[in-house]
Amino acid sequence: MSNDILFLAEFAAGTPARSALELATGAAELASQSGGSAIGLAYGAGASDGAAALGAQGAARAIVLGNEDRPAITYAPALVAATRDAGLALLAPATPNGRDLAAAVVGSLHVPAFGPVRAVRIADGVVESEQATLQGSVVTTSRPADGAPSPSVVLVLANTFTPTDGGTGSAEVSAAPAAEESALTQATVAESHEAEAKVVNLEEATIIVAGGRGVASEEGFAPLRELAGVLGGAVGASRAAADAGWIPYQLQIGQTGKVVKPALYIGAGISGAIQHRVGMQTAEHVVAINKDPDAPIGEFADLFVVGDLFQIIPALTEEIRRRKGA
Ligand SMILES: Cc1cc2nc3c(=O)[nH]c(=O)nc-3n(C[C@H](O)[C@H](O)[C@H](O)COP(=O)(O)OP(=O)(O)OC[C@H]3O[C@@H](n4cnc5c(N)ncnc54)[C@H](O)[C@@H]3O)c2cc1C
Repeated sequence: MSNDILFLAEFAAGTPARSALELATGAAELASQSGGSAIGLAYGAGASDGAAALGAQGAARAIVLGNEDRPAITYAPALVAATRDAGLALLAPATPNGRDLAAAVVGSLHVPAFGPVRAVRIADGVVESEQATLQGSVVTTSRPADGAPSPSVVLVLANTFTPTDGGTGSAEVSAAPAAEESALTQATVAESHEAEAKVVNLEEATIIVAGGRGVASEEGFAPLRELAGVLGGAVGASRAAADAGWIPYQLQIGQTGKVVKPALYIGAGISGAIQHRVGMQTAEHVVAINKDPDAPIGEFADLFVVGDLFQIIPALTEEIRRRKGA
């Protein structure tokens, strides 16, 4: 068994998903601790064209599992074959596709599984990961048992690693041997349709503008959407706003919603209840806008703006537009 760190890299139109760049960065970090190499397992449309570029984040090699736009699970047999005895760990993104593929590897190879995790490192030659449990109040550190088979499969939450800025490195690309036909390779998409509401993947957003009960109505979210638009971010919400039907539940952040880790979280008209906080407390920077100077969110915000969100948010949007020269 080698000390290599494998990672899943999903591609569309020759471009890696953000999760691929994050995991390439993370795998390179871990490989420097383990004394192995970071190896991407690339799949999806244009993967063979784009895989070499994973070297910019530190991947030494990339193995292309397949190059077509087909359901991720169809790549499972090739992934299992490429992963068998292949290294210390396989990092998979905690996305629906990442979870499907990770489950296929764990089920086929009977290797240890961890996650979703917010931190991974190498300790005493094994992969050690940290997972938040009990609504974020307890952090569990896990390692594979002595003698457990490798690689450990680790589901990694979005934004756990920040992609390094494009270096000039180039990964050595090779093709995985053709996988045997199985029920998995024959999976097809039965139907796909536009979602009723346009929902972005909140867990992958680097900037989130979230609204709560203070937003007061469905229309009240319009200025938040504008601000998110100029910042290139996504809109999220508290449960109070989702319960009121102002915004889809898929955008709820918190204990019973999504756990997010953006670089910037702006919470407007949100009091900061513990059940909301556990979903966003690992944001790098928290800005809160609330008209109540005693709102609990003020206790943990990096910047607490006391005032009416309907005055502050449009003014902020205008100022950002002005500075961008748009
Ligand atoms: C089991 C359980 C699970 C839960 N899960 C979640 C969860 O996943 N996510 C979640 O968010 N909550 C969750 N909750 C609910 C949580 O306890 C809070 O009730 C909820 O987060 C409150 O939402 P809010 O901050 O939007 O509303 P409120 O607490 O009512 O706060 C509204 C805030 O808006 C401010 N405000 C009003 N008007 C304006 C204005 N014009 N400008 C600026 N500020 C204004 C007010 O001062 C106030 O601070 C859960 C609760 C339970 C019991």
